[in-house]
Amino acid sequence: MSIWTYRGLRGGVKTVGWPLDEVPGMKGLPVPNVDRCPEGCDRCARSCPTEAITIDEGAVELDHGACIDCNLCVEECPFEVLTRPTSLTRANSDRDALRRSYNVEPAPPTLQPTKGQRRLRKSLFVRHIDCGSCNGCESEIAALDNPYYNLHRFGVFFTPSPRFADVLLVTGPVTSPMYDPLVSTYEAMPEPKYVIATGVCAISGGTNGGGYNAHRGLGGVVPVDLWLPGCPPHPAVIADALLALVGRA
Ligand code: SF4
Ligand code: SF4
Repeated sequence: MSIWTYRGLRGGVKTVGWPLDEVPGMKGLPVPNVDRCPEGCDRCARSCPTEAITIDEGAVELDHGACIDCNLCVEECPFEVLTRPTSLTRANSDRDALRRSYNVEPAPPTLQPTKGQRRLRKSLFVRHIDCGSCNGCESEIAALDNPYYNLHRFGVFFTPSPRFADVLLVTGPVTSPMYDPLVSTYEAMPEPKYVIATGVCAISGGTNGGGYNAHRGLGGVVPVDLWLPGCPPHPAVIADALLALVGRA
């Protein structure tokens, strides 16, 4: 037996258990604690580089679909209105559900697309397409195949061909050169097919969306089934969204 095999066996199983609601040391996206804001304060909104926080006649809203996870709003608020829980910020079928009002408890995430779920029950083939990402999202997607997350154990596989794909995992704000390749890839997939907008760039454009050569994410380009927040999204959140499609989230 080679020394590497021996060391591997001696190390034991490294794959993490599932489901994974909390990751040690991980901070989720900011969430507001209701009823703590003093009147007239807008420090969090002024600190946000992506205008993810809006204040309209005293009603404050934080959009996880636009939050790049910079933590500036949390640092700027002296009243500790915003905190970052260790629980994962999950994907949602409803884009509007990613908008967190400061004064209303959030609805639980809807993660159960219904079309063709019976067909998808055995395994899932995923086509990833990079539509102008910074590669942060790709780094987290690549982690899914390592021994720690070991996505293969759930029967989820990446494929280079849209003809074999059930799911289109899209990253980036959709730059103009990637518009046609994205639409062609979507059209080449067989039914039923799902689209996951992966990361804040794919949801709302992030910091580069809306420029002279980029769209503001997938909205209006191809139909989206799941909106997956984060910049980048945690690998566990990506796995959670993929397993939602086979009814195992
Ligand atoms: S953590 Fe998100 S909401 Fe807060 S300032 Fe940064 S981008 Fe804006
Ligand atoms: S969501 Fe964040 S990590 Fe992902 S491509 Fe955009 S900027 Fe990069």
